[in-house]
Amino acid sequence: MTDNIAVDDLSEDMARDELTRLSDLLNKANKAYHGDDSPIMTDAEFDFLKKRNLEIELKFPQYKKPDSPTEKIGSLPSEKFSKIKHSKKMFSLANAFENSDLYDFDEQVRRFLNLGHSDPLEYTVEPKIDGLSLSLRYEKGELAFAVTRGDGTTGENVTANALKIKDIPINLPIQTEILEVRGEVYMEHKDFEILNNYQESLGRKVFANPRNAAAGSLRQLDAAITAERPLKFLAYAWGELTEPLDTTQFGAIQRLKNLGFKTNSHTKLCQNIDEALTHYEELSKIRSELGYDIDGIVYKVDSLDLQSRLGHRSTTPRWAIAHKFPAEYSWTKLMAIDIQVGRTGALSPVARLSPVTVGGVVVSNATLHNQDYIAARDNYGKEIRSGKDIRVNDWVEVYRAGDVIPKISDVDITRRLSDSIAYRFPSNCPECGSAVVRDEGDAVIRCAAGINCPAQAIEKLKHFVARKAFDIEGLGARQIELFFADEILPIKEPVDIFTLEFRDQNNFTKLKDRHGFGKKSAENLFDAIKEKKTIEFSRFLFSLGIRHVGENVSKLLARHFLTWSEFISSISLAQNRESQEYFDLVAIDGIGTIVVNSLLSAFEIGKERNSIEKLVEHLDILDEIPPDIDDNVLSGKTLVFTGTLEQMSRSEAKSLAENFGAKVSGSVSTKTDLVIAGPGAGSKIRKAEELGVKTLDETEWLSLIGK
Ligand SMILES: [Zn+2]
Repeated sequence: MTDNIAVDDLSEDMARDELTRLSDLLNKANKAYHGDDSPIMTDAEFDFLKKRNLEIELKFPQYKKPDSPTEKIGSLPSEKFSKIKHSKKMFSLANAFENSDLYDFDEQVRRFLNLGHSDPLEYTVEPKIDGLSLSLRYEKGELAFAVTRGDGTTGENVTANALKIKDIPINLPIQTEILEVRGEVYMEHKDFEILNNYQESLGRKVFANPRNAAAGSLRQLDAAITAERPLKFLAYAWGELTEPLDTTQFGAIQRLKNLGFKTNSHTKLCQNIDEALTHYEELSKIRSELGYDIDGIVYKVDSLDLQSRLGHRSTTPRWAIAHKFPAEYSWTKLMAIDIQVGRTGALSPVARLSPVTVGGVVVSNATLHNQDYIAARDNYGKEIRSGKDIRVNDWVEVYRAGDVIPKISDVDITRRLSDSIAYRFPSNCPECGSAVVRDEGDAVIRCAAGINCPAQAIEKLKHFVARKAFDIEGLGARQIELFFADEILPIKEPVDIFTLEFRDQNNFTKLKDRHGFGKKSAENLFDAIKEKKTIEFSRFLFSLGIRHVGENVSKLLARHFLTWSEFISSISLAQNRESQEYFDLVAIDGIGTIVVNSLLSAFEIGKERNSIEKLVEHLDILDEIPPDIDDNVLSGKTLVFTGTLEQMSRSEAKSLAENFGAKVSGSVSTKTDLVIAGPGAGSKIRKAEELGVKTLDETEWLSLIGK
């Protein structure tokens, strides 16, 4: 390796190698930054490498590469877009792949709304454009902000760029106080082609697909570049409103059109789910003639009143679903099977493939899920792929659906080598050598060493700093790998991040003087870490990377306990499976024994618990604020529903209660504030009477919530 050698010490051969390496790396970094919005290095690293490249070129001009990054790339933008929090979250959509998923969706909506099969339920159906979501905020009819989707809660302020898109009106013909219009920024095929030809003629990088071109064009710091790019915008939704647009989805889209927005002419109002599926078939036939990329069809419950009753899950609305187009397939050779050890110790087999284009994208890896999957059995032990197992050197059929990781759909047994042998799953962790375990009823094989396994420790750290977790600027997955292996200033567990600056001060060699860093970038890193010492309770819980404790469960737990101290003392008591705390935990709606067991084992006295406690000492964990905390009678209360409700489904009742800031539990205890009992209520009502908990019937409940 030549990357650690000072420029002055490089030999001619080394200089040539190093210029090749740097040119590859810088071109890749530039592409990742502009192309898919996921940088592979920090700006500081990029600048450092670029400077090194230039120094070597000056000393060894004979080895300067024809595609030298010095000639091609401007430096990465030094300032970022400012961040803006969406006044109403921008949700993503749940996905459906089969027609049966759509019937399930229709069924769930009906059940939630207490509708029978013959009751009318209309849907608006529209193409799902493969572009970039954008939210436009108009105040008194004038464009105030344009914000990208970002993580759904906070996006980037791209107002200057949005002003350059012709489809986006600057002024509306109405002066309504607030109107947020949401839609998709995209590029048509013909414009994409012209842009790439132009880029090529100037020796600039070409874009992989129209979506990347649209994203790269919108996120230009220089709005003049955005102005040159032929971007389009279609409106299909809205955020905060001071006046409703209409009473139906279809009507609201018409209204947006009347206000001067472009809307999709293929949007159709369908009387029922069958008609919606027919429209899906029609659109999939003309897909290639649309002139822009769509990756599926979106179905939305048409009535806005029903949409608001259905509400949202944590990240997706209950009233909409995206029906993705079927996957595309290609055959290739499986070169090797590698085992990756994940954050929770799961040994995940990955197929290394001879690179092949599938649906326009080059694929060289595919997931193999687990041991059973390779051996042609599903999670229930049933045969899959007609019993054809997967072996190294096999010819396999690869497919992708949407953005999903490529999978293997078939194996060509006729091309299998005669000396081929079945794949043997390792019986020890390939990373740490520990024994592996397989829990009953679980297809996954795990390394049992927990955070003693370096692979698990590092994956946990990567999760800890991920975007939905601590999200520390300048400390991504790649930096975690470097610090994990670092001997002077190591990060082996999360707490080490927060002692980094202190430890650095006591080190002889300071971070600012080291390779890849400078005074500014070291300071920036310490500042970014300091900034994240204050964190929301649910986000913190999610960051810990406990198995089965994802975003959703973290939110539920935070809503239930409200403070970290309440949570941690309950968890300690709940270690006793006979305790009231244990039963209360299991009774939280949406949390079952699997989650609870995983949670309890993470907080058992031992290395993992110690690691969490050390970490907590450095943090300020904010109390969870229940939603709509304005003084309504239900806020902060714990409710139990029992018996049959006649006016609304149990799910709707629960969702309503949560909107009022209440918690819904499945069992009655001393912590219950209110029991709502319909006909047929039994033991829970007796328990409530015993404990003196107030009980309401459905009519009283409805009047309580003002229905
Ligand atoms: Zn291991």
